[in-house]
Amino acid sequence: MLKSEALTEDAVRGALRSVSDPEIPVLSIVDLGLVEEVRILGERVEVDLLPTFTGCPALGFIAQAAEERLLRIPGVREAKVSFTFDPAWSTDRISPAGKLALQSFGIAPPGGVPACPYCGSHKTRIDASFGPTRCRSVYYCDACQNPFERMKAL
Ligand SMILES: [Zn+2]
Repeated sequence: MLKSEALTEDAVRGALRSVSDPEIPVLSIVDLGLVEEVRILGERVEVDLLPTFTGCPALGFIAQAAEERLLRIPGVREAKVSFTFDPAWSTDRISPAGKLALQSFGIAPPGGVPACPYCGSHKTRIDASFGPTRCRSVYYCDACQNPFERMKAL
């Protein structure tokens, strides 16, 4: 008897690991802590994501990319990705792997004294001369004299 492989939450979360924030392509939405809930209803998958930064324009893109990825999982015929604001996303939801990925991308992760992603120095200061985006602040490293971005803590 042929038995189809069971669709599991792990399979869904695994698939979502290949979906990333278009502004930070090294970081999956799983490591970013966006995936709040996965519901499997037969051949339909529903995923609730938490929006990270209100006003960041990437959310529509992320939802569309996630739905397209979910539809490529064997056994999935319908996929619906929604955003929920409860609980609120916070930078604490970024996984340790996600924080490392941010660092390697040249963005200092939130929390603690920002270390320069280039040289590791803590001799850093916020540089207000750059217009900060809603998502990130620009810092300046006094040790290696590179500017770098840091994700704002929420
Ligand atoms: Zn530095």
